Amino acid sequence: MLRRSLSRASPLLSNGLLQTLPLPFAPSTRSLRSLSSHTTPQTLNPSPSQEEESHENLRDSSRPTVSVSIDRSGLHNSPEHSHNPSSDSELVKHLKSIIKFRGGPISVAEYMEEVLTNPHSGFYINQDVFGAGGDFITSPEVSQMFGEMIGVWTMCLWEQMGQPEEVNLIELGPGRGTLMADLLRGSSKFVNFKKTLHIHMVECSPTLQKLQYSALKCVDEAVNEDGSTKRTISMLSGSPVSWHSTLEQVPLGTPTIIIAHEFYDALPIHQFQKSSRGWCEKMVDVSEDSLNFRFVLSPMPTPATLLYLRKRCQWASAEEVAKLDHIEVCPKAMELTHQIAKRISSDGGGALIIDYGKNGIISDSLQAIQKHKFVNILDNPGSADLSAYVDFASIRHSAKEVSEHISVHGPITQSQFLGYLGINFRVEALLQNSTEEQAESLKTGYWQLVGDGEAPFWEGPNEQTPIGMGNRYLAMAIVNKKQGVPVPFE
Ligand code: SAH
Repeated sequence: MLRRSLSRASPLLSNGLLQTLPLPFAPSTRSLRSLSSHTTPQTLNPSPSQEEESHENLRDSSRPTVSVSIDRSGLHNSPEHSHNPSSDSELVKHLKSIIKFRGGPISVAEYMEEVLTNPHSGFYINQDVFGAGGDFITSPEVSQMFGEMIGVWTMCLWEQMGQPEEVNLIELGPGRGTLMADLLRGSSKFVNFKKTLHIHMVECSPTLQKLQYSALKCVDEAVNEDGSTKRTISMLSGSPVSWHSTLEQVPLGTPTIIIAHEFYDALPIHQFQKSSRGWCEKMVDVSEDSLNFRFVLSPMPTPATLLYLRKRCQWASAEEVAKLDHIEVCPKAMELTHQIAKRISSDGGGALIIDYGKNGIISDSLQAIQKHKFVNILDNPGSADLSAYVDFASIRHSAKEVSEHISVHGPITQSQFLGYLGINFRVEALLQNSTEEQAESLKTGYWQLVGDGEAPFWEGPNEQTPIGMGNRYLAMAIVNKKQGVPVPFE
């Protein structure tokens, strides 16, 4: 795979950008991703309703009120209840009160959104969840090469855009800011490129915004003489940096490059399940003694079933749908893609989406990860990350339905993407200037980014064997048609 990738590396890259990347700075010894496999999510007992109750208040805000009665028959023996925590956290109290005041269960999407981004106690809001000491580790945290290669992609697209004098470089969900920091360091020698950048970080977590500020080595600079107006500058590139909690807040009107790495997988999904009553929605309820959360199945289609499941299935063949008993749909991903496609259509440029997922309907992938281990989705909400596989086909259809001025490319595997961009050259350059320990870290990091499965060269403890993410992660680009086909999707 990699040798083939090498031979297909773009001439633009092998002749130009890669040769002039700055000399390797100290190769990182970042910690390894210890979570490597995906557990089969538990399934709900779909036994037919015997004790249905009516919950008139369950509603989807975008639709008129629809009366939904809830199948509680699975509650007594449900395998998917949470373990009663010693005392309820603020988030648990909040979730229980929503369910109580609604008079019925909430969708998995609403549960996921509250758990991850509730402004007071969501998983991402008050803590640094990344790295070996956190809950999970991502590609930019594995190796500096990841951010550098995204930088190469960004510079190539900027060239294809005709080297505009101003560019909004937007990152969605930048985590610790590591990817952007590596991108800026890696491109710092390209003065003409870096002087065009205005960096926009779209981040809902105040804690992570602070980490991003220091990762980008930001300073606040007075704009006027009395110092009453300030702007933030990254000392890595001299570029202005702004933070926003949503993409909508980033000003329009400037050519745009958007990066979304492991952002889509955190967007809330609805889960649907085929039952004897047709497609129903899986929902989160509290048990009768109010102690635990548990999954229940709506006894009839909910508004989300009629709206989102129907829409998603229109983009699939009857055979693809017929094979499935569970389907996940992410309306927020569709909405976000609409926004991205419209922005790129009007302002020019492109977006790069990298995530784990599939080029088709996702069946049942929601997972909870805490301290590098899979845990029960309903246990101690807010203490574990929730994420779901990304449906790349749905992103493609969503982008195309809002604009005919954009084109969608991929998905290709992360291994192909990084290989075509020339990560092999980069690792070799870094290895030449590394200590033994750094070389070890570079090798494992490289394997994690582009390899598939367990690293064959590993001689350390089994539980630390580096696992390749090269084929599980996919890359897709959405670009303005004026830009032609983006590297390396030719
Ligand atoms: N891209 C980073 C982090 C991925 S984790 C990396 O690869 O390391 C998801 C990131 O998206 C976090 O920074 C989280 O705080 C942010 N996030 C999640 N949901 C969000 C939302 N709805 N709006 C804005 N940011 C969000």
